[in-house]
Amino acid sequence: MYFRIDHPPVAFEDYVPFISEQMANELTGIAEDLRGMKVVHLNSTATGGGVAEILQSMVPLMDSLGIETERIVIKPQDDFFRVTKLIHNMLQGAPGSLSDDDWDTYHGAIQDVARDFEQDHLWNDVWFVHDPQLLPLAKLMTREPDSTWVWIGHIDLTSPNQRVMDNLLPLFFHYDRLVFSLDDYVPREVRDALPVVIAPPGIDPLNEKNVALEESEAWDIVAAMGIDPSRPLITQVSRFDAWKDPWGVIDAYRLARQDIPGLQLALLGLIQASDDPEAEAMVASVSDYAGDDPDVHLYAHADLPCSVSKAVNAFQTASRVVIQKSTREGFGLTVTEAMWKAKAMIGGNVGGIRLQIQDGINGYLVDSAQECGARIVQLLRDEDLNTRMGREARASVSRNYLLPRLTLDYLKAARSSQTEKGQSVHCKP
Ligand code: UDP
Repeated sequence: MYFRIDHPPVAFEDYVPFISEQMANELTGIAEDLRGMKVVHLNSTATGGGVAEILQSMVPLMDSLGIETERIVIKPQDDFFRVTKLIHNMLQGAPGSLSDDDWDTYHGAIQDVARDFEQDHLWNDVWFVHDPQLLPLAKLMTREPDSTWVWIGHIDLTSPNQRVMDNLLPLFFHYDRLVFSLDDYVPREVRDALPVVIAPPGIDPLNEKNVALEESEAWDIVAAMGIDPSRPLITQVSRFDAWKDPWGVIDAYRLARQDIPGLQLALLGLIQASDDPEAEAMVASVSDYAGDDPDVHLYAHADLPCSVSKAVNAFQTASRVVIQKSTREGFGLTVTEAMWKAKAMIGGNVGGIRLQIQDGINGYLVDSAQECGARIVQLLRDEDLNTRMGREARASVSRNYLLPRLTLDYLKAARSSQTEKGQSVHCKP
């Protein structure tokens, strides 16, 4: 019912050039405080989506700091993921409710996970439990007296379906710390009742996806995937998911193309999350919507000339404008990845994207496909504006949204639970 994932080791020293001296000292100091402790990160998918992306880098980084850290992914029956996708959608605001059977499936699967952990005598000093899929775990496990349990929510909780939220609320009270990406996401019922940490995600500057790539190499890769290097390209990198509004991106592209002849659009969704049963239907729907336009390139199951990470890097690097037209977004790693490459970003005016993009300074926030189309045209026509915004975008990522800062926030949450039980801390960047 669960498996461990090993990640290649990294060296903390390699991150030092990307962070301030103060942050490097804080990280090594907190690692010293936590030395000898055993830490686990738990989530529900090995690949696909932002949490898997963060953990594949954070687990080796914590290890490199001298904190014994492992990664465990649960492996429940498929029906669990049908239910947890409903929960995910409803927590992001979708209407509806779950049946009693659905709730039984959810709690029953995590009960099985808890039983397996206990049978295997799995113990840890610090348990980082990611996202709603695993939320019941702290209640269902027999906790070691000194262990610290931290739940980390990565989704957009701006306006959750209250019925589902009410059902989940008691589960929060079994954790020592709750981490949210934005202050806006903290449910009012827990705001003053539980210790809350605000920690927006960050990207790994050493990942193949984020290291500097020559534009010429980027164009070679996208050309090998069918893009014409002589014409402009815009891209959205995202799992095929309704909240990412791929249809709206196509609408925006169609509008922009009226002013930018020859414009090409890439929708890159090469990794579907194994905990998302809706993905294939979504690919079919978007593909239908794109019709037979040869300049809309939809990549879901493509043969690649390189790794997926390098392909993402290449598309973000080769595009003059990158889009993330989400209608809900806890925090878009894709937004930060493109901004790190000094791209002027156009993002949906929702959730974490509002924190990531300062409208008119390091990108644009949009509320409709029409607005998105107009901004695409503006940024493709005005090279100076595009370059200026891209420069601001890179600087804001460097200041706020790199992995070491996020790692420090999580470690502080764990340490504060042990030393300041009951107090609320805020780790804003
Ligand atoms: N991603 C990828 N290949 C793809 C599509 C997405 O590697 O074809 C990655 C993307 O680069 C980012 C992550 O998946 O690192 C998505 O995280 P984000 O926070 O943007 O959205 P989520 O999928 O968690 O909703």
